[in-house]
Amino acid sequence: MPSLDPEPRTMDPVAVVFRTRLFWRLFASYVAIPALVACALGFLAANRLRAVRYEALQRSLYEESRLIYSLIAEDLKAKRPEHARQKLAALCSCVGCRLTLIDDEGHVIADSEADPSTMENHRLRPEIVQAAAEGEGSSIRFSHTLQEQMLYLAHRAEEPDAGIVYMRLAIPLAQVTTGLRIFDASIAAGVVAAVLLAALASAWLAWRQAATVLELGRTAQAVAAGDLNARTFLHGGEAGVLGVALNTLAQSLAESKAQAARARDELLGILESMSEGVIVTDHERRIVLANATAATMLDFSSSQVSGKMLWEVIRETQVLQEAESAANSATRKLVRCGPIRGRFVGVTISPLSRQQGALGLLLVAHDTTEAVQFQELRKEFVANVSHELRTPLTLIKGFVETLHDGALHDPQKGPEYLTIIEKHVAQLTNLVNDLLELSRLESRPSVPHRARISLVDLIRKVADLMQPAAQKKRQALSIMLPPVLPVVSGDADYLERAVSNLLDNAIKYTPENGSIRVSAEAVNSKIVIEVADNGIGIPPADLPRIFERFYRVDKSRSREMGGTGLGLAIVKHIAQVHGGSVEVESQQGKGSVFRVVLPVA
Ligand code: ADP
Repeated sequence: MPSLDPEPRTMDPVAVVFRTRLFWRLFASYVAIPALVACALGFLAANRLRAVRYEALQRSLYEESRLIYSLIAEDLKAKRPEHARQKLAALCSCVGCRLTLIDDEGHVIADSEADPSTMENHRLRPEIVQAAAEGEGSSIRFSHTLQEQMLYLAHRAEEPDAGIVYMRLAIPLAQVTTGLRIFDASIAAGVVAAVLLAALASAWLAWRQAATVLELGRTAQAVAAGDLNARTFLHGGEAGVLGVALNTLAQSLAESKAQAARARDELLGILESMSEGVIVTDHERRIVLANATAATMLDFSSSQVSGKMLWEVIRETQVLQEAESAANSATRKLVRCGPIRGRFVGVTISPLSRQQGALGLLLVAHDTTEAVQFQELRKEFVANVSHELRTPLTLIKGFVETLHDGALHDPQKGPEYLTIIEKHVAQLTNLVNDLLELSRLESRPSVPHRARISLVDLIRKVADLMQPAAQKKRQALSIMLPPVLPVVSGDADYLERAVSNLLDNAIKYTPENGSIRVSAEAVNSKIVIEVADNGIGIPPADLPRIFERFYRVDKSRSREMGGTGLGLAIVKHIAQVHGGSVEVESQQGKGSVFRVVLPVA
């Protein structure tokens, strides 16, 4: 039997009613069987005892009857019925019974209480009929003589001289049953005591069991309602085992719930840290979860979207249409949308597992801005290259045709046209070389042949190479370098190319007699190479785009100078692959300063 802590929790009225009802139900079922068994046993015992007692009483009355007959047998033999009658009267008061002597004809020979001459024939009395047949007979009937229910017992006796006689003994039934009632009463008392004991034991058992069921039910209900800290206080017995099992169940439920919460937190953490936007919907297109990236990409407020319909949150109609189509066809769909807040977004819509015949959806949004921009740049680049190639090619074609048409033999125009063709071929060669260089730089994220480079020597070498071009325009190209500079780690060819591009531009875009200065200095563990000129300068509007491929302030002037529009883009890439950067300051009509900043090795 489990033991219970006394009222471990306060009882609410409903619980009290429940326990009372349960108690009475259990009590009724517990007490019914022992009570019925006790009553049945009592009844059977009373009947059996009554029968035994009755039989014993009958036997003793037969004995008495025989004894009495033996006392009067002599009188019968001597034919003294009066004597016999007197004796019977005397014996009657001794034994407390009415005594009757009857001959075989049924005539009453003597009677202890009545005059035989007034008595009717007794031969057909049931006890006499039975005694005539079996030797002994008995019957219970109402005596009209004594006006009460009587027990009659008779036995047959045979005397050689007197013939067959019947000795009958009659006793009021009440006298017999009084003795038997005492037995009934004591058995009834026993039964009542047994039922009371059973009731007491049943009440105790029912109360304990009702309390146990209530305790188990209360804990199970609390656990079902989500209170996973609820525990039973049952110890020992089968209910105790059940209580421990319930506690273990609640404990493991709590652990599973905590584990599920941890897993969900981890999943949400992963989702939140993803660069892709993720939205999960159920089969009704109701949002189950959505991360912040999805909210940013698809431009909705990330707070409280869970539980809302997809169409309430997302404004992109194409996404909504494709979501329906993906769910209906159970196939993956890709939607490209945007710009949303200036960004392009690709949304992959995948159907999830089937729920009630409909499909949940997984929407993954990814930022395709770079891809779109790259695509745009590629188109622009192809268009630019085609354009850059077409112009000199058209010119070359035109001059070649003119030469074919006879100009070749013209002593003045022939060489002049050939010079123009040569110039444009050189232009094309420059363009192709620059394109190759740029493509090499863009395809490699780092410097191919890294070495420790002294920039003082490198700049001096490039400046010396550029001197003739500057002198041609009577420009003063000055070099201002400190005796020593920290070395940089990089590719000498690339760095030479960068400095040479900047000096080439300075010479190109500075009028005759202008001045150009190339210098370098170490500033905060960086080396700054500066190329300054007092040339035409760059308009402020063009400055931000000056490093873009093919961007030129004045296309015809650039082409005239043999420029390709790729020089500065190449400088920018060279600076970047060395971990550095390039910047420009310029004033239109006053000159420009280009700076390449490189990290010290
Ligand atoms: P290009 O081959 O045309 O010189 P770049 O990429 O080297 O191409 O330069 C891009 C444009 O920047 C030039 O066309 C020119 O308009 C401008 N630019 C470059 N350097 C200078 C400079 N030192 N002074 C003025 N404008 C310059």
